[in-house]
Amino acid sequence: MKLLITLYSLLLLSHSSVSQTQSRNYEFSQGQWFDGKKFVKKTMFAVEGVWVNERPDRIDSVFNLQNNFVIPPLSEVHTHSLDAIGYYKQTIARYLNDGVFYVKNPNNIGPWTKNIMSEINGPNKLDGSFANGGLTSTGGHPEILYEDRIRVEIGPHINNAPRGFFKNKSYFNIDSKADLEAQWSLILAGEPNFIKVYLANSEDIGNTPPTSRYTLRKGLHPAIVSGIVRKAHETGLRVSAHVETRADFLEALKAGVDEITHTPGFYLFSKDELDRYRLKIEDAKLAAEKGVFVVTALLSRNLTEDPELFPLVKEMQAYNLSLLKKHGAKIVIGSDHANSPWDEVRAIQELDVFDNLTLLKMWCETSPQAIFPDRKLGFFKPGYEASFLALPENPLIDLENATDISLLVKQGIVIEKTELPEPSTSHEH
Ligand SMILES: [Zn+2]
Repeated sequence: MKLLITLYSLLLLSHSSVSQTQSRNYEFSQGQWFDGKKFVKKTMFAVEGVWVNERPDRIDSVFNLQNNFVIPPLSEVHTHSLDAIGYYKQTIARYLNDGVFYVKNPNNIGPWTKNIMSEINGPNKLDGSFANGGLTSTGGHPEILYEDRIRVEIGPHINNAPRGFFKNKSYFNIDSKADLEAQWSLILAGEPNFIKVYLANSEDIGNTPPTSRYTLRKGLHPAIVSGIVRKAHETGLRVSAHVETRADFLEALKAGVDEITHTPGFYLFSKDELDRYRLKIEDAKLAAEKGVFVVTALLSRNLTEDPELFPLVKEMQAYNLSLLKKHGAKIVIGSDHANSPWDEVRAIQELDVFDNLTLLKMWCETSPQAIFPDRKLGFFKPGYEASFLALPENPLIDLENATDISLLVKQGIVIEKTELPEPSTSHEH
């Protein structure tokens, strides 16, 4: 989780200079388009923000892409940065500038987030999807984080509100099936785009947890989770699960969640407890079979207190990610608390488990599906949204080439970059 210390600071930045708000009929010539394997030179046509197969009768403008390499837009599948706190207009502009058009926040302060809704979600805007408050047990993660750290830190801004201020805003306490029944309508009243559930160290429930300097986090009782998933699915909402250990991962799969927001192993407290985090072949196969999206979220490892464990954490993450990939699980890119998903992508590259083509496909093709599964995103096919990034240099040769974007188009609308001040100081949690 991340929170800007400059909370509520006024941002005297002019609104993003998006001039065009209506989609037209376009011809894009001389581009080299990503086809899932390679770049193919062809002419593409967009009508009213959607790709079409044939040249329409009327063309409003022709863009010569000058041999640029064209890829689908980027995504951030796990962040808490997009929220109505701090410099959110800058956050939105930064994502758009980077070609990150789709962003998913799996735990936000529901009532506050309402304040940014006029700034996002539209053909010429950043698209965001929000869980609002996650479902956890009393005293579970992230209640402690919100109440004992964030609430204290921002005290003066919330009139030094007492503990419990964030209850039913950024978390809901569900300790039993009766709690679920009683609170379900309240959860839905916040109009979440999806439901977030917390599983954490499930194997310790009813057992003596291993000794650790670190207070082991807890989440929902696993027995409740399948009931939540059933209710959510009946309402048409998908479910994302926070997990920490292999046991959590398996409970999430068993409960039928749609997405797992972490690769297990981002937190180790001892070099002797590795089996708590290491996935097995059958786990990866089950994740693939169930079609669950698994978010990389490598950078959640910053939670690890003992720097000596860091090499082991990375080894664990590399192992689990490789295993998931090898057995066909759908891996998507999310950083948890970085300013940009680029930080996450660079962390993945450092593990040396995926080549550029694999990473590009995860980021441009699979990741948007985890955020907006009902939209046609990630491919240059007829009927799909006419959105893309044009790059002067080939990103398959060096992925960093995707940081240099010459043209951004979203749903048939050219997105103008916004000039931004130097990155603001931020504070990591
Ligand atoms: Zn998170």
